[in-house]
Amino acid sequence: MRINKNFDNLVPNYLFADVARKTNEFAAAHPEKEIIKLGIGDVTLPLAPVVVDAMKKGCDDLSRKETFKGYPEYEGYDFVREAVAAYYKKSGVDVAADEIFISDGAKSDCGNLGDIFSKDNTVLVTDPVYPVYVDANIMAGRKIVYASSNRDNNFLAMPDENVKADIIYLCSPNNPTGAAYSAEQLKVWVDYANKNNAVILYDAAYEAFITDDSPRSIFAIEGARKCAIELCSLSKTAGFTGTRCGYTVIPKELERDGHNLHALWYRRQATKFNGVSWPVQCAAAAVFSDEGLRQIQNNLNYYRKNAKVISDALDELGIYYTGGKNSPYVWLECPNGMGSWEFFDFLLNNAAVVGTPGEGFGENGKGYFRLTSFGSYEKTLEAIERIKKCLK
Ligand code: PLP
Repeated sequence: MRINKNFDNLVPNYLFADVARKTNEFAAAHPEKEIIKLGIGDVTLPLAPVVVDAMKKGCDDLSRKETFKGYPEYEGYDFVREAVAAYYKKSGVDVAADEIFISDGAKSDCGNLGDIFSKDNTVLVTDPVYPVYVDANIMAGRKIVYASSNRDNNFLAMPDENVKADIIYLCSPNNPTGAAYSAEQLKVWVDYANKNNAVILYDAAYEAFITDDSPRSIFAIEGARKCAIELCSLSKTAGFTGTRCGYTVIPKELERDGHNLHALWYRRQATKFNGVSWPVQCAAAAVFSDEGLRQIQNNLNYYRKNAKVISDALDELGIYYTGGKNSPYVWLECPNGMGSWEFFDFLLNNAAVVGTPGEGFGENGKGYFRLTSFGSYEKTLEAIERIKKCLK
């Protein structure tokens, strides 16, 4: 037998392991110092009460013969899909409930959607990038091209008419840069995709953090229903990183190469996915209830407040950054021309604060750094005071 040799082409990413090792070494050498982690990519606040109640009720249902549930439908229960469709409607986007597939989170579908596309397709990702898009396609043996996000375009890469791509991953608001595309910019991507017969895989995992008029869905853009698939997640929206639930939207009219992509994805899911558990789907539906949407805002506002603490300090220090406004991430240029790892060491040694070196997210991350707002408010304030002190 032979293994999938494409795995040999994966570039080892030691980013988080190296961050952890350096942090542990520092902690061992300086037991008196309290380290504050502003590199956390996971949420820290608990689920909203209405969500927990729904999940508990879902568990109770499983404990009684009359309400017990077995295998769920591959595409999710209708009441959850209807709740998601109604959520889209609130921001003026028409998505039909039967175009929605309930998933166990956006990460799986980011990679799994590749099952319905040929291995010969060229994949375009922006750089810096959420590494899952790259690694999943390297495993499948696809060629990857990079669109440069940099300071000149405010970390919002735009298409190059001379580059031919078949599958395009866009993430807005972006991880790691926090930058969010405007409607005009997304329209350029949609037109490019339609002209090139490409498909956009639009990762909207952070849409709930948007506070200005940036689109919260690619389907707010004219022409997107003919070229785009949207992935979304309740992980950061509602604290589901451990609970696991998301959704993927494939318009019924989306066709490529003589095939309907919604039908192909249904076939794929029916073969390889057995759905999301009843208690989790009950919890997901509760997120989209009026009370659920109100309660999750409390957590979102908490993280937003942290992001503002970080971005206000960078404004004060005159440091260039993106994100922080529509995003839990703040992406900053390392001060005084420092490299990403140099700045990491500087912050750790001088402020006992840990962040994430940008170069772990691609070439264009060199000289940049990611801070996140998922920590506690008090600790974020304290970390920022320390950072200000050592940079002033
Ligand atoms: N997409 C992006 C851009 C992310 O940053 C993450 C998580 O960090 C995910 C998807 C994964 O989401 P989920 O927890 O729903 O799998």
